[in-house]
Amino acid sequence: MTATGRHQGMTALVTGGSRGIGRAVSRRLARDGALVAVHYGHDEAAADRTVKEIETDGGRAFAIHAELGVRADAATLWSAFDRELATHAPDTEPGLDILVNNAGITLPRTIEHVTEEDYDRVFAINTKAPFFILQQGLRRLRDGGRIINISSAATRFAYPGIIAYSMTKAALDHLTLSLALELAPRNITVNTVAPGFTETEINPTLKNPQIRQALSAHSAFGRLGRPADIADVVAFVASEDARWVTGQWLDATGGVGLGL
Ligand code: NAD
Repeated sequence: MTATGRHQGMTALVTGGSRGIGRAVSRRLARDGALVAVHYGHDEAAADRTVKEIETDGGRAFAIHAELGVRADAATLWSAFDRELATHAPDTEPGLDILVNNAGITLPRTIEHVTEEDYDRVFAINTKAPFFILQQGLRRLRDGGRIINISSAATRFAYPGIIAYSMTKAALDHLTLSLALELAPRNITVNTVAPGFTETEINPTLKNPQIRQALSAHSAFGRLGRPADIADVVAFVASEDARWVTGQWLDATGGVGLGL
């Protein structure tokens, strides 16, 4: 990956930034000059590793902890952000330029196997948490800032066996639309980046060679996405070059569905 410096002097927060797509986004934004708050839920060691990787690459980052899907999670996240920013970067102006709502869980079940508890949990983490993180983050987000919500190709296609997960991301897509309008007077852009099947730990079935092959065939390029494929799209949407793009759903699937 080539460093561009296009996020120099900016502060970014990536939820679920310790691994998978979030880790790649954190590294990409830091390579481009941003100071990155790497949020994590349980995996402190992974968050520390990501921060170390960024520092080894010559970037700046710090970890912040907040378990999502519990009451007052947004308040916990923002107080951790405020505290750690003041500790790790006391000379940096408080506030935020780029917020990436990336943390999420999947729920690989057909409708008859989804319990009410499952339903509440997947909505709490994938939909409610980003909503209140945004609500409480708006006063920290600087005018001209960027919000990027990580959704899924599953909101445009009916992928079998992930009905409730797909619904959480469809609601997130609408959050992008409505919020883009609400924040336009502040020159803040709000966009969705939607990956297709991507090589991370969210989907353990990707370790099965037959499933890998079948899912790879969904993309026009005949392979699964890599976290860096998604991170590079996020970095563009987060940049000044994308100032005229807001309320949009950006496909980052390698052409899933082109041949149908
Ligand atoms: P991942 O499991 O590696 O990463 C998910 C991140 O969310 C992790 O850092 C995890 O710690 C965090 N997280 C989950 N539950 C949390 C909680 N309760 N509290 C705090 N943090 C929590 O998977 P990934 O593939 O990197 O997923 C990143 C995003 O991309 C998710 O929103 C996912 O829905 C979306 N996505 C992934 C794929 C794919 O195939 N990998 C496809 C479409 C969309």
